[in-house]
Amino acid sequence: MVVQETNDADRLEAVVKTILRMFSVDISWVKELDLFQLLVRIILSQKTNRKNVDIALKNFSERFKKIEDIAEADMGVLRDVIRPAGMWRIRAERIREIARQIVRGGISLEEILHLPYDEAFNILTSIKGIGPKTADVFLMIARGEDVLPIDTHIFRVMVRMGFVGTREKYEEVKKKLEYVTPLRMRMRAHLALIEFGRRICRAKNPKCRVCPFSKNCPSSLIGRGRSTRRTITR
Ligand code: SF4
Repeated sequence: MVVQETNDADRLEAVVKTILRMFSVDISWVKELDLFQLLVRIILSQKTNRKNVDIALKNFSERFKKIEDIAEADMGVLRDVIRPAGMWRIRAERIREIARQIVRGGISLEEILHLPYDEAFNILTSIKGIGPKTADVFLMIARGEDVLPIDTHIFRVMVRMGFVGTREKYEEVKKKLEYVTPLRMRMRAHLALIEFGRRICRAKNPKCRVCPFSKNCPSSLIGRGRSTRRTITR
């Protein structure tokens, strides 16, 4: 069992290193955002392409200047503003609800950034609408926290390559990836893994033919009579 785990860790480490070499990452956009805009961007980025997120976020930043305005926003206006990013009904509700809890609870996102990780994470996830992944991505980008958040793309890749099962919990998947990724490389690895999931190991029609892992991937479509691909939608 120990040997198996070690082999898996070695294989995962090699996968992460390869993916890091495949994709360069750019988060220069972060400089233009305040902390609430960053939260909104993280929410809008889920299952939405970057171009549409940028359009929605530009609309959002032009229309709302203060978190208090968002907390009191007319739902129709908020929906229109973020509509280009898709799922606008549910996302508008979520964004306004988060803004309301922050304003009414007297929560300061700036102050959260000065707290130890566990405390900061607990406060963020106590806000309805902010889950573990959103909290981790926020802390990772806003203050360089050395975490490796698991989004839907990373989870899909991990399942397809056989590193985790479909029911594995967020924390477990995160621990496995963090174990093989040096501290200062985690943000880059998170972003590069997402690129790999978006461009190669896509939810539909994964590009196994150009994937460097196709020989050892248990879900590779190459040389198989039928797809063994599992569709993971998380
Ligand atoms: S071989 Fe196919 S299923 Fe496996 S990781 Fe590569 S793209 Fe994804």
